[in-house]
Amino acid sequence: PETISIQELANRMSERSVDVIKFLMQQGQMMKPGDIIEADLAELIASEFGHTVRRVAESDVEEGIFNVEDNVEKLQSRPPVVTIMGHVDHGKTSLLDAIRKTSVVSGESGGITQHIGAYQVEQDGQKITFIDTPGHAAFTAMRARGAEATDIAVLVVAADDSVMPQTIESINHAKSAGVPIIVAINKIDKPGADASKVRTGLLQHEVFVESMGGEVLDVEVSATKGLNLDKLLEAILLQAELLDLKADPERTAEGSVIEAQLDKGRGPVATVLVQTGTLKIGDIVVAGDEWGRVRALINDKGEQIKEAAPSTPVEVLGMQGTPLAGDRMAVVENEGKAREIADYRQRVAREKQVAKNAGQRGSLEQMMS
Ligand code: GDP
Ligand code: MG
Repeated sequence: PETISIQELANRMSERSVDVIKFLMQQGQMMKPGDIIEADLAELIASEFGHTVRRVAESDVEEGIFNVEDNVEKLQSRPPVVTIMGHVDHGKTSLLDAIRKTSVVSGESGGITQHIGAYQVEQDGQKITFIDTPGHAAFTAMRARGAEATDIAVLVVAADDSVMPQTIESINHAKSAGVPIIVAINKIDKPGADASKVRTGLLQHEVFVESMGGEVLDVEVSATKGLNLDKLLEAILLQAELLDLKADPERTAEGSVIEAQLDKGRGPVATVLVQTGTLKIGDIVVAGDEWGRVRALINDKGEQIKEAAPSTPVEVLGMQGTPLAGDRMAVVENEGKAREIADYRQRVAREKQVAKNAGQRGSLEQMMS
């Protein structure tokens, strides 16, 4: 049976183990951080802490879907995938909008962008992918599902407010995901702005920016005045270069669902970040417990495209049902295989639900159902 220690579970949820233990104690269970628990209990705890869980299933049916190896000789650089995080009102949305606008003005497609949950910009001829679903939730959902889609986290800290609770939370998320941080010190146009206070504030949470002797890049920006956005993009490219991000564009595609919804006219629409391989029209895909044949691919500019390379966000049409944000998507060889996997996963999900309902005798389950 699958097991996990309390400490490891807490780490993966970015919660303190003491809080998990406290919670268990309220349910009448005395445990220590090193204690090992079963996957079912871990899952119940995780959902109580507001996380969604997907166990790494090792069934025969799923064998071989997500472990196709990249061909080392075919590896090519790919654009970095960036998530913007930070405390509420520090300017995440403004920054995402400002970056999108600057690039759209210089872009060729008439300035019309469509919201698909992620977009790409170009700086010095190099692409950067920004995920702009409400940052925090998407990041957490994807991390909980083991699909670490983000290469770089831009931590927005308002210079007139400095480090706040969600700043610290964001730092912890990025750190436990092993994602490097770039600090965007925002609102430097404001009279009360104090960038050095932000830097020393970050110091206390072990984020050491360059001027403090560390290696974390920081850029002073103003989202609303459009100040230093190019510098921020350059810092992202520099960080990306250090990370040496690569993927094999010739293999079968894999990616993560960023958003998905049922569209009245178009049917299920999944916005997918292609992470490796190239996704093509006609491909048979599985995402979570849904499958489909790719009927159309639409990029962030609303254009129909024939294929999507690594790090490209794209809307995928043709799914039979609507997958969930955070689901992994993979191309499989044929429709039979796709149905088999989707059916299997739906059955597992149903069985879990039944087990959960049946298990309501225990006090813990009762509390949490
Ligand atoms: P979010 O909650 O992090 O997404 O923050 P928002 O982008 O919604 O911004 C919160 C408020 O701060 C809004 O009223 C913005 O107009 C304002 N704001 C954001 N960036 C700047 C900036 O660079 N300078 C100034 N003066 N205000 C800003
Ligand atoms: Mg916002």
